[in-house]
Amino acid sequence: SPGLYIVATPIGNLGDLSPRAAAVLSSADVIAVEDSRVTAGLLRHIGTRRPMIPYHDHNAEGVRPGLVARMGHEAVALVSDAGTPLISDPGYKLVRDARAAGHLVVTVPGPCAAISALTLAGLPTDRFFYLGFLPPKQHARAEAIAEIAAVRATLVLYESGPRLAATLAALAEGLGDREAAVAREITKKFEECVTGTLSQLADRYAEAPPKGEIVIVVAPPGEAPPADADTADAALAEALTRLP
Ligand code: SAM
Repeated sequence: SPGLYIVATPIGNLGDLSPRAAAVLSSADVIAVEDSRVTAGLLRHIGTRRPMIPYHDHNAEGVRPGLVARMGHEAVALVSDAGTPLISDPGYKLVRDARAAGHLVVTVPGPCAAISALTLAGLPTDRFFYLGFLPPKQHARAEAIAEIAAVRATLVLYESGPRLAATLAALAEGLGDREAAVAREITKKFEECVTGTLSQLADRYAEAPPKGEIVIVVAPPGEAPPADADTADAALAEALTRLP
């Protein structure tokens, strides 16, 4: 039926494309894609060719109204280069406008690097906070980290290899030296998940910046350590000096 189909695609292993995703892509009238070369490869894998329209941060404003109009009489699929559209990828405004126009909106769920990393890390999963990419500049990054320091949840972040060590060090600085995991090349040949404290991981990756795609997972803040007697006495003495 006509409408918008949000289709998740593999994050490395083509075997992770679901049969339903393949069926929806094969029968779509048009596929909105981040990069037509990447999606052409996926379509070749499932033995189909469909018309594609580039839809990315730089052209979305111009392309969106036309796509939304087509959803009234055509099946429009949305994919990103890898994983779930809308998760640190374009698409939410397309969904918003499709809904506003009264079109059918259907999701075809599948791989997502953030969720996959959570399943590998061995850290609590009952509450997690997805941060996407932190700002690359040092000051903005420190501010973003300070903002979430008190959040009682496991944190999930995307990062690139060259920036990994600096980001881990900034996280250790702003959050304290929590347990963490670096999940790399998930579902690919060199998949690995390395665990340690943030500063241990920062040291490890400062020596050898890793190749490939990366998700950082950070443990929630621990319980506040019980103050020992000396610390409590010192705090009391200090507080007394400030009494009027
Ligand atoms: N929408 C995608 C998803 O659902 O995972 C994420 C898109 S975001 C632009 C790309 C980032 O996701 C990469 O820089 C990396 O941090 C992470 N990523 C994607 N594939 C990955 C993989 N196979 N292993 C580890 N991280 C991956």
